[in-house]
Amino acid sequence: MKERTVAYFSMEIALEPQMPTYSGGLGVLAGDTVRSAADLQVPMVAVSLLHRKGYFSQKLDAEGWQTEEPVQWKVESFLKEMPQRVDVNVEGRAVQVRAWRYEVRGASGFVVPVYLLDTDLPENSEQDQTLTDFLYGGDSRYRLCQEAVLGIGGVRILRALGCERILRFHMNEGHASLLTLALLEERAVRGERWAFGPEEIEAVRKLCVFTTHTPLPAGHDEFPVDLAVKVLGHPEFKTMPEVLLSNGNLNLTRLALNLSRYVNGVSMRHGETSRRIFSTHAIEAITNGVHALTWTAAPFQKLFDRHVPGWKQDNLCLRVALNLPVEEVWKAHLECKRELLGFVRQKGACQMKEDHFTIGFARRAAGYKRGDLLFREPNRLKAIASRAGPIQLLFAGKAHPNDQMGKELIQRIVRAGKELQGAVPMCYLENYDMELAKRMTAGVDLWLNTPQPPLEASGTSGMKAALNGVPSLSTLDGWWMEGHIEGVTGWSIGEEKELPPEERAASDAASLYDKLEKVILPLFYRQRESFIRVMVHAIAFNGSCFNTQRMVQQYVLNAYFRIQ
Ligand SMILES: *Cc1c(COP(=O)(O)O)cnc(C)c1O
Repeated sequence: MKERTVAYFSMEIALEPQMPTYSGGLGVLAGDTVRSAADLQVPMVAVSLLHRKGYFSQKLDAEGWQTEEPVQWKVESFLKEMPQRVDVNVEGRAVQVRAWRYEVRGASGFVVPVYLLDTDLPENSEQDQTLTDFLYGGDSRYRLCQEAVLGIGGVRILRALGCERILRFHMNEGHASLLTLALLEERAVRGERWAFGPEEIEAVRKLCVFTTHTPLPAGHDEFPVDLAVKVLGHPEFKTMPEVLLSNGNLNLTRLALNLSRYVNGVSMRHGETSRRIFSTHAIEAITNGVHALTWTAAPFQKLFDRHVPGWKQDNLCLRVALNLPVEEVWKAHLECKRELLGFVRQKGACQMKEDHFTIGFARRAAGYKRGDLLFREPNRLKAIASRAGPIQLLFAGKAHPNDQMGKELIQRIVRAGKELQGAVPMCYLENYDMELAKRMTAGVDLWLNTPQPPLEASGTSGMKAALNGVPSLSTLDGWWMEGHIEGVTGWSIGEEKELPPEERAASDAASLYDKLEKVILPLFYRQRESFIRVMVHAIAFNGSCFNTQRMVQQYVLNAYFRIQ
């Protein structure tokens, strides 16, 4: 491990569908980042938590009400236990931490190891044994304890594993930013743990890179200093310099911002938004991507293998997908659609027709993503389906267990679907995960995305769809600001100007209905070849660009090893 120079820290990471170590977009991005780093032979090592009980498995009752079940998985069948142990001071106790190793093997065989930290050891108290059980579970004390294990335990375990020459510590979101405290400790004068000054802080800044992922306040963990003192166990915390505390609180985003040499948002638009929120910081942008091979369905892989040789090695080659024969693109698409609809039928969920226009929407049930926007005027939607051609809808997505509003949102969508039954069949699929995401993004005819600008930092599911020739219909926000060419790669909803939420919802819904009725459905049902041209452009323009191969190259060039 001596040769590793980049350490990537993330609270969640999607390594395999059967490993419940992620909740959604952030974890999928972390997994895709590591997969591309392995392909590109970037000397990276990654750190996350084990999440023995996962995030949760989602059940919906007949009314659409979500309940959660812990996930059971056999850690030993995926991971190898490492012999090293380190301890982290939590509430005055020395909590023992071990690591499990997972290997992500790139296209050429190069391995990026991922170490998942685990406190379930007999030496620890019963309570401490559960610290690495639940992703985003528990209260703020539990969260801060986990963040101490991830950040501080993570740095120590890397050292114990022999990673001595790490030049960059990349914090994927603020959850990991306590790693800066561990790095400061390593430099503390005369071995006094918390004795550091401007020089030590500057030395740590030179090592750190921070990616922020949301403009929403809930995405930025902040703890009262008393809780920080209690959990991290240092009365000195109260007298820490202002770069480490903000307004007397421990704010993990501010800590990461203050202690990083390079900070970025995850799309151009999100970079701008973040510069507005954190106006005293220089914040750049590297737009997210997805791992092309992971998210391209088998029929499209075969199609690309035939017509775009070299696409796996160099995703930019997908640019020449412009020349793909339209009949073959359609045939591959129908294969994906059949697979998805077969899955839906087998779930007993509902009957969908292969020749009917199918819209997909799947994401976390968060208010700003507005999953219910399509149902704002059910009669309008019915009228469109009867005039312009049949429509069927596939929805999915989890709400955070404590998010009452998110659960109510799912319920509203399920109810709206029942009211449409007969006119516009709708099905809400349970337990949205990597596997379902792969099926859905490849198998629908249109990928719908309705966040309220400017709150979607990037969004990545539309990129998965693009790789499979599925165009997006989306509000102008996040990555779509860069990926959208009207009528060429997909379509936009609403205008760019900022409006109050209620006005915005009314005008966006009207725009969404208009696009469906006047532009997209006529193209799909009456000018099929032109519709397939849009599919081809989605692959050529967006598949070739919005992948993690391009993204990791930008991190290497701009963030990790930029000559300053
Ligand atoms: C890709 C993915 C996401 C992220 O989708 P967004 O478009 O960013 O909302 C979330 N969850 C799963 C399971 C995914 O595969």
